[in-house]
Amino acid sequence: MKWGLFGGTFDPVHLGHLRCAEEILELFHLDRIIFIPARVQPLKTDRVISPFHHREQMLKLAIEGNPSFSISDAENRRGGKSYSIETVRHFIDNSPDGTELYFILGQDAFHEIQMWKEWKELARLCNFVVMTRPGYEIKKLADTFPPDLASLFQYDSTADGFRGPTGNSIFFRKLTLLDISSTDIRNRVKANLSIRYLVPDPVRDYIK
Ligand code: ATP
Repeated sequence: MKWGLFGGTFDPVHLGHLRCAEEILELFHLDRIIFIPARVQPLKTDRVISPFHHREQMLKLAIEGNPSFSISDAENRRGGKSYSIETVRHFIDNSPDGTELYFILGQDAFHEIQMWKEWKELARLCNFVVMTRPGYEIKKLADTFPPDLASLFQYDSTADGFRGPTGNSIFFRKLTLLDISSTDIRNRVKANLSIRYLVPDPVRDYIK
């Protein structure tokens, strides 16, 4: 089994998230993608985030009808700040033996990875798929990881990824660029502007 773990605040989920997830599912022949809304995103504590149940409900509406997409409330059940290392450990313990985990994140998030709890250990525990995002150039691993760590990851041209000491890899993938962000959507809603075609219609109706 190959599972994609897609963490985020999803305040709200938008077509940028959904289209990227769809493309990664195909590119890596994943069996499923699990959207994991954060309870408290440790790096976004400076702003007010919509209550978990609203973000979860919007995700449910957004993925309805896609049998490859599901939602986990693991981070909400765990309580406290939502650290990805704990989430990945949860899925290692709660997936069939031999399941390959692919942690999905945008390039903006990857560039901050050194601020994540136990990030070096996280890079050892699972594969990473780093999605290009408008405004962020594809970078070499060494531009994000300190050189001593980056040197442990060797480029494997067959897989087009950087394979690390535990056999897990970091993949950079250029996907269809959709310059959509939840921040922009929230700003439009506040300004009474349309968000049609930025989020799925049921999510738009829910926000209304
Ligand atoms: P906000 O604007 O509130 O910070 P966001 O739009 O970045 O939110 P998140 O829920 O924080 O959305 O994103 C979850 C993950 O999806 C992050 O790793 C982020 O980099 C990635 N992501 C979000 N939007 C896009 C997009 N349009 N294209 C590619 N990746 C994206």
